[in-house]
Amino acid sequence: MTMDSSNSSSNEISRDKNNNNNNEISDGLPLVQCVARARIPTTQGPDIFLHLYSNDRDNKEHLAIVFGEDIRSRSLFRRRPHETQQDRMIRGAYIGKLYPGRTVADEDDRLGLALEFDERTGELLASTATTWDPHHHTLVRIHSECYTGENAWSARCDCGEQFDRAGRLIACDREPSSNIQGGNGHGVIVYLRQEGRGIGLGEKLKAYNLQDLGADTVQANLMLKHPVDARDFSLGKAILLDLGVANIRLLTNNPEKIKQVEHVPLLKCVERVPMVPIHWTNSSEGIDSKEIEGYLRTKIERMGHLLTEPLKLHTNPQPTETNQKQTQMNSALSSSSTLAI
Ligand SMILES: [Zn+2]
Repeated sequence: MTMDSSNSSSNEISRDKNNNNNNEISDGLPLVQCVARARIPTTQGPDIFLHLYSNDRDNKEHLAIVFGEDIRSRSLFRRRPHETQQDRMIRGAYIGKLYPGRTVADEDDRLGLALEFDERTGELLASTATTWDPHHHTLVRIHSECYTGENAWSARCDCGEQFDRAGRLIACDREPSSNIQGGNGHGVIVYLRQEGRGIGLGEKLKAYNLQDLGADTVQANLMLKHPVDARDFSLGKAILLDLGVANIRLLTNNPEKIKQVEHVPLLKCVERVPMVPIHWTNSSEGIDSKEIEGYLRTKIERMGHLLTEPLKLHTNPQPTETNQKQTQMNSALSSSSTLAI
């Protein structure tokens, strides 16, 4: 899967920087530009709208998986000089649904809906009839790419499971097993291309080998001279603001992520929605492996994740040769200040 973007997108970004009237939003954050949006029918139920973004910080193609046709990217919908209605439909800046023979992007005759724009700047004017209200509490997951967990059936981590669950929660009104209020068809999964907590897939595979040699996930990163967590959520913030989302219910167990995702007063986390591993609430489902138990134990005990079950995660394993090796690694790493995250 090659998803590097072309250079033309960075030109678009710099042009848009000049046109961006809302300097407050871009202050200190990356500049993002939604390049295209398309409806994706899914096997899970509702259609989703996949948004592809370029930005001024890297050349990766970050994504937003949007539930709800009325959650609109400001940068995508902004009118551009000399563009046609066909141009707008092709890049996905339309209201309602496309159908054969449709000629106008900004109005859907069948639904009787029309978008309005600032005549001077071309900015979309957010009306509650056509556009999701930023004050709504929007269910959001900021998900970092994990090739192994999402595509290679890995039982070393729960990324694939968390991704699936985020989609199900956003789609549903209420999750029966947890009684958590869902998004009822409105919400966003921001999908950031930062594999392996930001160190890349090759380095992640090396870290896995170190884990098989007895290191935990934190130790393995440090032994490879990487930070424990190299992820950056500023792009996620910029994308959420571009989508007109201001109050989020964040799907995470990571308190550090809440701090990193907020951009007060523009973007506030109004609730943390826990992501309890499915196997903990239903022993016949979810991921069951000794690797994931170690992975979750490290997240809880060394990275401050807010998970409290099950108690067996906190029991001390029987001393083995591997544990002795781990003790040696612990003492070798104990002076490192990067552990205090
Ligand atoms: Zn993963």
